[in-house]
Amino acid sequence: MIQHGRERPTRRAGDMLVAMSRQTRNLLFSLLLLASIALPQSVRLYVFDNGVIKGIEPASFQLKKEDIATSDMVVASYLIVHPKGTLLWDTGAIPDGALNADGTPVTQRFFTASKTLKSQLAAAGFKAGDITYLGLSHYHGDHTANANDFAGSTWLVQQPERDAMFAEKPPNITQIAQYAALKNSKTKILNGEDYDVFGDGTVVIKAAYGHTPGHQVLFVKLAKTGPLLLAGDLYHYQEERGTTKVPTFEFNKEQSLASRVVIEAFLKQTGAQLWIEHDLANFNKLRKSPAFYE
Ligand SMILES: [Zn+2]
Repeated sequence: MIQHGRERPTRRAGDMLVAMSRQTRNLLFSLLLLASIALPQSVRLYVFDNGVIKGIEPASFQLKKEDIATSDMVVASYLIVHPKGTLLWDTGAIPDGALNADGTPVTQRFFTASKTLKSQLAAAGFKAGDITYLGLSHYHGDHTANANDFAGSTWLVQQPERDAMFAEKPPNITQIAQYAALKNSKTKILNGEDYDVFGDGTVVIKAAYGHTPGHQVLFVKLAKTGPLLLAGDLYHYQEERGTTKVPTFEFNKEQSLASRVVIEAFLKQTGAQLWIEHDLANFNKLRKSPAFYE
């Protein structure tokens, strides 16, 4: 009995120590986890390089060779880091899995890329699991390459876009295998209304239908840089602005032109810069991740 009496408290104390150390370990683990995705006090925007598109025929944009400085395009994606979470906007043209670990370029059809999206995310201090929201400007393959990797994020998508992406027969231009996993993602469906992602007006999705059934653009208000608009494929070249020329493969040309009128008025009203995502000249001027805009 005495032996038992002595043993029991010892065992209890031991259990407590184990329990406490487990608690401490969990606490430390949580702190480390928080530290790894420490969110800044103000909004940041990172620009990722997902390669280039070459060999484009200007005629497919109703343009002549002499109308544009170059027909080459860039493929970009963007990470917005807000005090309340993160939003990845677009996901590249070539899936990370098809790129070389040593960074030598890979060409697939018109696309050439050398840097994976996830290595660029990592250099900025993030991994796929840290992304709160995923937004795709639209469903074309040069924007959806790595979408499946972000199926754990909340997907922000327009109803007509999602309907087309998961229709019995999706549009030919889609690469369904690249985004199939989004079908089961936690999803916020939009119907053309502005969507204020973090509730403070700094990151707002705006509908700009036409290029695809539910094409959308992203307004970002940065404290130092000022307001800017990630335009998706509302335009592909600066030279399209002020014209009625739209791509020949547009889902709905009239809708595109109407969206441009609305967005141009919005730019005028807010003084926001327009960042045409495929615009090579603009991209070359931009600060690339891990540097950022704030
Ligand atoms: Zn595109």
